Amino acid sequence: MRSACAWFKLVPPKPRRKGWRRNRAGAADVGGAVARLVLSGMSALWRPAYVAVGSNLDHPGARVAEAFERMAVLAGSRLEVRSRLYRSEPMGPQNQPQFVNAAAGLLTQLTARALLDALLEVERVMGRRRQERWGPRIIDLDLIWLVGEPIDEPGLTVPHPAVSQRNFVLYPLADIAPMLVIPGRGRVVDLMNLAGGAGLSALA
Ligand code: ADP
Ligand code: MG
Repeated sequence: MRSACAWFKLVPPKPRRKGWRRNRAGAADVGGAVARLVLSGMSALWRPAYVAVGSNLDHPGARVAEAFERMAVLAGSRLEVRSRLYRSEPMGPQNQPQFVNAAAGLLTQLTARALLDALLEVERVMGRRRQERWGPRIIDLDLIWLVGEPIDEPGLTVPHPAVSQRNFVLYPLADIAPMLVIPGRGRVVDLMNLAGGAGLSALA
């Protein structure tokens, strides 16, 4: 007669619940990691984002160059491409210097809100003080479009509401992304041609 012990050895072992639990925990961890990223202002994807840059104070060309360098070291973002610099007439009050404008193309893991916050922080560090509307500024960084994230909430509208009216945004943007389609507006090169180049000149 077989002993209980020998009989036990013939019974196939039950599937190991421990391993199954580990897998399930692993899957839950992926979801958790994504949730943690989004809460911290990061998306799991690298997405293209386009930023308009402008300055008309304190050596504007140098300030635009400085803004590019600062965007190049933003956490969670990479500066991929920069446009030529343009000179433009001021919008609004005319008793202020001409502007230098440009556009930057980034790849970013940041959400639109986190990217705007980072851009406003660059403005702050560079000494931007908000005074009169459309007044002179040492640096202005506007988030024109972040692919896949249209948003309209207090303090943050993307695509930027004025993009199709501003040739000093569209010409630089057409240097780096002429075929980009801005949702609800159209293709950058078409918007640029519609806007026309009045008051705008490319710098070397
Ligand atoms: P403007 O660039 O129109 O001259 P400001 O630079 O003074 O104006 O920005 C005013 C506010 O516009 C900022 O505090 C910011 O919260 C808000 N804002 C809303 N959407 C955007 C955007 N897409 N890019 C930049 N600023 C934005
Ligand atoms: Mg701005």
